[in-house]
Amino acid sequence: MNNTSKVYWASPIELMSLINSKNNMITNILIKTRLILEKILDNIKPGDKVAVKVHVGEAYNTRYLRHDYVHEVIDFIKSKGGVPTLIETQGLGMKEQHIKMSENHVICVGVRKTAVEHEKIAELHGYGESIIGAPLKFIDGEKGIESKIIPINGIHLKDVAVAAGLFDFDKMVVISHFKGHGSAAFGGALKQLGIGCVAKRNKFRAHFKSFKVTKKCTPTECGLECIEACPVGAITKNNGEISIDYDSCVECTACIEYCKVKKAFKSVYLPFNIFTERMIDNATGVVTGFGPENIRYINFAIDIVLNCDCITTPGPPIIPDLGIFGSADPVAVDKACVDAETNAPGLPRMTKEGTWKDPLPAGVEKFGAMMSMSKATWQFDAAVKNGIGNINYDLIQI
Ligand code: SF4
Ligand code: SF4
Repeated sequence: MNNTSKVYWASPIELMSLINSKNNMITNILIKTRLILEKILDNIKPGDKVAVKVHVGEAYNTRYLRHDYVHEVIDFIKSKGGVPTLIETQGLGMKEQHIKMSENHVICVGVRKTAVEHEKIAELHGYGESIIGAPLKFIDGEKGIESKIIPINGIHLKDVAVAAGLFDFDKMVVISHFKGHGSAAFGGALKQLGIGCVAKRNKFRAHFKSFKVTKKCTPTECGLECIEACPVGAITKNNGEISIDYDSCVECTACIEYCKVKKAFKSVYLPFNIFTERMIDNATGVVTGFGPENIRYINFAIDIVLNCDCITTPGPPIIPDLGIFGSADPVAVDKACVDAETNAPGLPRMTKEGTWKDPLPAGVEKFGAMMSMSKATWQFDAAVKNGIGNINYDLIQI
């Protein structure tokens, strides 16, 4: 790969006058999406099966990417003769969480962990086939455990369980909503690859060092919920004790979530810098396995909030919209977004008392400034070390 990559960019400015003129329509953000796609989707041939990676947004999240943008991508792929399919993977874990908010109001969160509930939230958020024009396929299966193991020489990991269904496709377009992320500082194309395209095993390996059963486990007194929940039969009870066959375990965490005994399991969370490096190792497995020449990236830097679409409380935007970025390089496209975010003025923020905080100034990397426990540079350092892209780019305005 050359050490400078092309990133195409369209600003988000929209005019409100001259409704019917071409000059006005060229400022429309969906038209701009199409103009970016014309630049980056030069690799799609008639008949290609094209996977379109999306994130449909967690339940109660209201800042996930609007389906209108995704619809534009689907339409464009069809116009090139490609056959598009939306693809998604299941979230980490197996069990949704029920929270009692008041006497008569129980909410259910963490619903993207298995296909049935994930599909419902996709429909609710406008990602159904009748609206978007393409079917949605879970490429890691109903439970998120179907994978193909790809060997890599990563910073921490030597192989990656890439979602198996990805390999049914010829090309992939990765659509990302650029925004903050609690552990990795920001979420963009690299996170869509490193978390969004892997099976639960490697989502677990990004977040956790290990897990094991502790002495608090009481198999003679409980309902053996862990054995019932395990999707691969990796847990057995012998001589009054349970044991886990780690060779067949797919690291789905169902046993931990379904066990009703407190502290029967011990799991060790990784520090955020290691999480980020392992996420990039995962991304390296996806790019290596699928082929970098077969993947294109489009980042929508719109509704840029502090937290990820995978949680229920994204918060309000922290900077103005920055526009649309497209590239064949996942590192360059994310770096261009972070640079634009850094150069943008912040938006004023309201405190819970209803007063206003001063906005962060242009020149400050906002995610790192607001969430001091993570740094945007971690992703880039790891990605360059693994050789999956460039931090140097030429920004070409559309
Ligand atoms: S891990 Fe939990 S569910 Fe499984 S045997 Fe031990 S106490 Fe029972
Ligand atoms: S033993 Fe492994 S595969 Fe089985 S439920 Fe636990 S984490 Fe999942």
